[in-house]
Amino acid sequence: MTTHHECDVLIVGSGAGGATSAAILAEAGHDVLIVEEGPWVDQGSVSPFSLDQMDKQYRSGGVTVALGVPSIAYTEGRCAGGGTEVNSGLYWRPPEETLERWRSRYSIKDFATDDILAICEEVEHSLSVQPVPGEHTAASRILQRGADKLGWQNGEIPRWMTYPEGAGATQGRRQSMTRTYLPRSFDAGARILCDHRLDKIVRNGRRAVSAQLTHAGNPVTIAFRDVIVCGGAIQTPAILQRAGLRHRIGRTLAVHPTVKLSAKFDAAEHGAVNTPEDVSVFQVKEFAPNMSFGGSASHPGLVALALTDNWRDFGKAVTKWPELAIYYAAITSEGRGMVQAVPGMRDPIVTYRLTKRDRDLLGQGLARLATVMLEADAEEVYPAFKGAPIVRTRADIGDMASRFAASKASVMTVHLCSTAPMGDDEKRCATDSHGLVHGTDNVFVNDAALLPEAPGVNPQASVMAIAIRNARRYADQRAG
Ligand SMILES: Cc1cc2nc3c(=O)[nH]c(=O)nc-3n(C[C@H](O)[C@H](O)[C@H](O)COP(=O)(O)OP(=O)(O)OC[C@H]3O[C@@H](n4cnc5c(N)ncnc54)[C@H](O)[C@@H]3O)c2cc1C
Repeated sequence: MTTHHECDVLIVGSGAGGATSAAILAEAGHDVLIVEEGPWVDQGSVSPFSLDQMDKQYRSGGVTVALGVPSIAYTEGRCAGGGTEVNSGLYWRPPEETLERWRSRYSIKDFATDDILAICEEVEHSLSVQPVPGEHTAASRILQRGADKLGWQNGEIPRWMTYPEGAGATQGRRQSMTRTYLPRSFDAGARILCDHRLDKIVRNGRRAVSAQLTHAGNPVTIAFRDVIVCGGAIQTPAILQRAGLRHRIGRTLAVHPTVKLSAKFDAAEHGAVNTPEDVSVFQVKEFAPNMSFGGSASHPGLVALALTDNWRDFGKAVTKWPELAIYYAAITSEGRGMVQAVPGMRDPIVTYRLTKRDRDLLGQGLARLATVMLEADAEEVYPAFKGAPIVRTRADIGDMASRFAASKASVMTVHLCSTAPMGDDEKRCATDSHGLVHGTDNVFVNDAALLPEAPGVNPQASVMAIAIRNARRYADQRAG
């Protein structure tokens, strides 16, 4: 039997873009219904950064890949709150020069840097963005120590966390969307349907009129006045394409590709350096924006994965996992990818092409990151690419660099953007300057897909600030 719902504004997806849109619009008096494909999972009911979390809160258990040479593994949150529930919580405002470049290159109207930064300030308050009040994890101190010895710029990145007074890094409570903007939207009357996957938006010419969904195998329909698609940078273009919307949609996927290594430290001197339930809050920015270094989730299962590229030589290290932590080198990429919905397939096909400059930067990044680890007193470093040597000395780094090829590396990303870029330049952009899809009267995008390029820093604040700006504009123009 088909279940039917009605609303003024249908919001697809409850992540950084969807939850903020819902709060602003519900508070402005609109009748808001959010549909979320994934389940509601209370923060704290699964262990952060664990394989259990990947199983419950990630799309396809976190095993998704953009095809290319090399292919790039990517992960998306799939639960109430989307990526904000599972991510590292590291907060960066969008850089001013990035905002200015986007405004001029993509002809984005009403996009004053000061206005965006004022919204960022508001977000910082709403999410309790702050540094760790107490002790840092060993993984954080390693990155800081190594970079300091080299004289490379590094620092602590504040997070959206609350802490008991003076508490250490692992005692924070992540201020994700299920704790902040979603409850705020419910207080203002918004409703959410979890475990509801939107399959198709039905259009009549320029107007979208209804949505077809599936819930527990049963059909659901929703009639609405306007629809705001916030499924994230991979799902949003696929949803739009299934609705027959294709202009500049899904053709400019931008990511921050990363390569990884595991580093082992002497237990007698450093104790256990692995903190499975947390990541480093330090980043090395000496070579930013082209290249940044940080800490990755280092749960024992992920340590095993990070050693698989050269298991024959590296595999025995897995039994020493408490002495190992994983780090990444991320780059800004010139390359671009495609997202294509394919009839009959649940997930879109995703491809990504790294340029030669991107591939070279990944190699340089890994070499510099290994240098940081040696300076921080790593005994052994295990770079994640096929045929990599164990790095114990500076001389080994030269050997490693000569053996590296991006095509042999386990490249991955968690920062996905730009598949429906916004701006009034119709040649470059899928939506207008405020997220209305070109060629439609009532289909909006309001998530990471709108970012014209990957911002060069962790993107959630950029996603939220732009989504809040656009939602306010919508509320100003349409009476609730
Ligand atoms: C592991 C990880 C670590 C990260 N670390 C950081 C960090 O430290 N700092 C930072 O700034 N950023 C980080 N990010 C990135 C950040 O989480 C994203 O930029 C942000 O969540 C994007 O917001 P969004 O609204 O575009 O999409 P999401 O937050 O991904 O939300 C999209 C939601 O839409 C739902 N959805 C999709 N399709 C459908 C459909 N058909 N029907 C119904 N619902 C649907 C999904 O289930 C999902 O819940 C990280 C991401 C990951 C995955």
